[in-house]
Amino acid sequence: MPEYEAGRLRHHETLLQISSAMTAQLDITSLLSFVIDAAVELSAGTAGVIALRDESGTLHIHAAAHIPAVHWHALEPFVAHFQDIGYSATENDLQDLRLILDISIRHVTALSLHYLNTNIGYILVFRSAVNVAFSTDDQHILSAFADQAAIAVTNARLFQTLVREKQHLAAIVEQSIDGVMILDGRWRISAFNRAMEHLTGWDRSEAIGRPCAEVVGIETQRGENLCRVDCPLQRPHVGSTTNAEGWITARDGRRRYIQSSYTIQRDAAHHFLGAFVNVRDITQQRIESETQNTFISVISHELKTPVSIIRAYAETLARPEVTWRPEQVRESLQVIIEEADRLTDEINSLLDVSRFQLNAMPLELSTWSIYELIEQTCTRLAPQAAQHDITFELRIPPEFPLVIADRNRTRLVCENLLTNAIKYSPSGGPVRISASKDNGMAIITVSDQGVGVPPEDQSRIFDRFYRVDNRLRREQQGFGLGLYLARAIVEAQHGQIWVESRVNHGSRFSFSVPLAVPKIAGESEHVPDMIIELSKDTNNDGTPR
Ligand code: ADP
Repeated sequence: MPEYEAGRLRHHETLLQISSAMTAQLDITSLLSFVIDAAVELSAGTAGVIALRDESGTLHIHAAAHIPAVHWHALEPFVAHFQDIGYSATENDLQDLRLILDISIRHVTALSLHYLNTNIGYILVFRSAVNVAFSTDDQHILSAFADQAAIAVTNARLFQTLVREKQHLAAIVEQSIDGVMILDGRWRISAFNRAMEHLTGWDRSEAIGRPCAEVVGIETQRGENLCRVDCPLQRPHVGSTTNAEGWITARDGRRRYIQSSYTIQRDAAHHFLGAFVNVRDITQQRIESETQNTFISVISHELKTPVSIIRAYAETLARPEVTWRPEQVRESLQVIIEEADRLTDEINSLLDVSRFQLNAMPLELSTWSIYELIEQTCTRLAPQAAQHDITFELRIPPEFPLVIADRNRTRLVCENLLTNAIKYSPSGGPVRISASKDNGMAIITVSDQGVGVPPEDQSRIFDRFYRVDNRLRREQQGFGLGLYLARAIVEAQHGQIWVESRVNHGSRFSFSVPLAVPKIAGESEHVPDMIIELSKDTNNDGTPR
C-alpha cells in the first residue's frame, strides 16, 4: 500500500477512535479539552483553541491546547475576525498571533463547528513548522473531525442544561413550603422534600423506597387508611390529576390535616408510571372552619332560645280571648325583660369578640376598689346563685388596695367567672372569692365545688368557642366565649388568667390586675387583715378537694 494511502487509513482509524471517545463524554469541560487536544494532534499542530458561541452569538474560548488561559481573552477578537475571512490567515494575522502568543506561528486553520446548519463555534489550530501548510487532505480529515466534535459538544451542552435544570428543579422542590414527593410506578416514594420530612416526621432516607400509604396514610372519617382502602391514584377512571384530604398522624404522634394533589403520569397504553404529589398542611384552616361551624350551630341555638321564649310569652299575652291578672302580666313581662337582657348580653359578647379581633377594644383605665366591684357583682348574681343552692363567700377585706384597670371590662371578667361557677356546680355549694397581692398585681380567685375541668381541657377552655364536652355542655347555655373574652381583657391589662381544677371536686379560676400603688421595694406581700383562708374543703395548695 502506498505511503499516502497508509497515512489516510491511519488518520481514519484515529478519527474513528476519537469520535467514539468523544461521543461517550458528557462532561463539557473534559470533552472540550479532549476535542482540542485531539484536533491539534490529528493535524500535527503546535497549539489550538476551541471557541463556542454564547446565547447572544458571541464567541468565547472554552478550551485550549498549549495556550495558557491568560491569553484566551486577547485571542477572542481574532477568532471572531477569522470567521469572516474563511480558512486563510493573512501575514498580518500571523504577526498579531505571534505577538499575543509569543510562539512562532506559520499556519492557521479554522474548523467551523456546525450542528443542524448552525455554527456553534470554531476550532483554531496553529502550526509553527516551516513550509508545512495544511493540505487539502488535512482539511478534509479535520472537517470530518469537526462535524463529530460539533455533535459531541452539542450533546454535552444539552446534557449540561438538563443537569442544571434538574438541579434547579430539585432546589425548587426542596425549598417548597408545601410538601412534595414523587411516586414511582409501584406507588413507592422516590423523592421526598424537607417540608414532607417536617410534616410526617419521616427522614427522607427512610421514606424513600417505602409505599406512599405507609408514610403518608390519610385517614378516612372512620379512621381507616384511605390509601389502603381507596387509593386516590387507583380509583377507576381517575384522570391525570386527583386530590385527597384528611388527617395524618406524624411519626411523633402529631395530627395534621392535609390536602394532597396528585399529578399522574401514564404511558401510551394508560399504565401508571408515577405521580408528582403536592401535600399542603391545612390543619389551621380545618380547625378554623370547624370552629366556624361550631360557632354557627352554637350561635343559632343560643340566640334562638331567648327569642322563642320572648315570642311565646308575648303571643300568650296577646291572646284576645284571655284576660290576664295584673301579676300574671307582670311576671310574663319580667321573663321577657330577662330574656331580652340575656340576648343583649350575648350580642354584646359577640361584638366584644369581633372588636377584640379587630384590635379595637379600647381600655378606659381608672383607679377603683376591687372589693366594691366584687361585692356589687355578688349582690347582683346572688338571686341566680340561690336558685342553684349556691352561696357566695366574699373573702376580700373592704380596704384591699385599689387597682388600676378598666372597671367595666374587669366587671365582665368577674361576672363571667361567677356565672360559670354557678353554671358548672350542679350540686350547689359555696363559691369563694378571695384576693391576694403578688409582685404589683392583685390576684382575684374564684373557687367552686362543681364538676371541674379535665386536665386535657384546662389550657383550651380559654380558646374561642371551646366548651368541655360533658353533659353540662348540652344543659348549660353558652357560646364558649366567656373565658376567651376574660383572657383577652385580662391580658390587655397586662395580667394573666389561669385555672386549677380537679374533675368532680371543683375549680379555682384566678386572674391578676395591676395594683394602683406600685410595689415599694422591700414591701411585704402579706396583707395582714385579708381573710385568705384555706377551708376544710381545699387542699394545702389551695386547690379544691
Ligand atoms: P361557656 O360557659 O359559654 O361555655 P366559657 O368560655 O365561659 O363559655 O367557658 C368555656 C368552658 O369552660 C365551659 O363550656 C365549661 O366547659 C368550662 N368551664 C368554665 N368555667 C367552669 C367552671 N367553673 N367549672 C367547670 N367548667 C368550667
